[in-house]
Amino acid sequence: MFMFAQHPLHPSQLFYKSSYSLAFVNIKPVVPGHVLVIPKRRVRRFYELTKDELFDFSLSCQRVAKALEEYYGVRSMSLVIQDGVDAGQTVDHLHMHIMPRRPNDFKKNDDLYVELERIDADNREQRSKESMEKEAMEYRPLFEEGFQI
Ligand code: AMP
Repeated sequence: MFMFAQHPLHPSQLFYKSSYSLAFVNIKPVVPGHVLVIPKRRVRRFYELTKDELFDFSLSCQRVAKALEEYYGVRSMSLVIQDGVDAGQTVDHLHMHIMPRRPNDFKKNDDLYVELERIDADNREQRSKESMEKEAMEYRPLFEEGFQI
């Protein structure tokens, strides 16, 4: 079972796996297609990645972002690392937020950050396992090597 800090990731949430990285659907997305990429090894901060992990993580973020951009037919993506608690990091395991952007999806572009913060504090119901599985299943075929747990 892969972990996201202390949170066990359900295998059905995952849609991409490389040597050192994983991508999975978000339990509380702020926009449709908001996913996370993490290194498999739990590190808290970006600077803690080894060179091999860094290369693999960056490549994975690039691949996932491009695949979702095409899948959603958008022309822009927000890639965000909240690197440390004062930057808004709430889960103690480095993660890149990958978020497809649409014209006027927020009143002001940077309201995305407000929403990221708000949703973390919000105890609104998390998505069901079924809803996350359905989304992950849509993304798995986007990667030519396919996906195997
Ligand atoms: P941050 O505030 O930058 O640390 O972001 C944490 C992110 O992790 C938020 O987008 C949460 O919705 C997401 N998250 C927390 N737990 C899980 C989980 N078990 N599965 C998927 N996403 C999660």
